[in-house]
Amino acid sequence: MARAIPPAFILGMAAIMGSFVGSFTNVVVYRLPRNCLSINNPKRSFCPSCKTQLAAKDNIPILGWVALLGKCRYCKKPISARYPLVESLVATLFAIVVWRGMVQDGPEVTADWHAWLTTLTMLASVGILVPLALIDFDLTIIPDELSIYPLAFFVPMAAQVTHLRQDLDISMANPLLFSRLPEWANGVCSALVAGAAGAGTLWLIGKMGNVLFREKAKAMGGETMGFGDVKLLFLMGVMLGWPKLLMAFGIAVILGAVIGLALRLAAKNLYVPFGPFLVAGTLAALLLPSELMGVVEWYIRLITPSGVKP
Ligand SMILES: [Zn+2]
Repeated sequence: MARAIPPAFILGMAAIMGSFVGSFTNVVVYRLPRNCLSINNPKRSFCPSCKTQLAAKDNIPILGWVALLGKCRYCKKPISARYPLVESLVATLFAIVVWRGMVQDGPEVTADWHAWLTTLTMLASVGILVPLALIDFDLTIIPDELSIYPLAFFVPMAAQVTHLRQDLDISMANPLLFSRLPEWANGVCSALVAGAAGAGTLWLIGKMGNVLFREKAKAMGGETMGFGDVKLLFLMGVMLGWPKLLMAFGIAVILGAVIGLALRLAAKNLYVPFGPFLVAGTLAALLLPSELMGVVEWYIRLITPSGVKP
């Protein structure tokens, strides 16, 4: 089935689309936690220093910032390099998602609608998780708008099960738990169980943390861990299914430990919330090349009792 669209064109379009989503991400990250501003009012972006509305050409992702050499056209105050960096990050992630989902298997873009839906689901994951990580990093909060509301999209998408088991050897690591149900119901139930198991486990760890670190918990207002992380873990379970949820959580814990230790050694008294690490783990589980999935399969084989193999 020949499709005449060259992959380079599709990847370029994905990157450009990603840079605009990244630009919108910057708006969401700034405005969502600040209740005084809604997402589309004021409609145009403004300079955070002098509040002057930006011209359309200064609003072009990445290039606008580069053309202005990182300074506001009006007040000449520096504009944070974080804006173009976030735009570049989302552009890169979008290109990787589209490459993984639609073009990596050959010179032509796939015409399989499963692949398109999977790609759409993964693009939505990137679009939700990047602002979630940045808001948690800035303000240590995880808004419901980015953790609970997206379930309305991701739970139905789990019916389309291909992304839940992408790259995994099904015979060994079947993420579908309810094999008697029709496949779509099976996908939804498996995603919900993965979400509930992940969130429940983290909630229990948090409760144990409150008992073990009573002093610290008191200093932090009674909880060592916010409920935001629990909501995020539920979303991760629904996005990933259970084998990849384990992988994402493992990567998050390792990254958190390494970076936490590095910060302590550098004697920086900087507290980084867990959310950005969970997001990094989720994106890694979604996007790492399939070769690395062998490690996950080995791990699952290790922890799965023989006899329950599907
Ligand atoms: Zn300005």
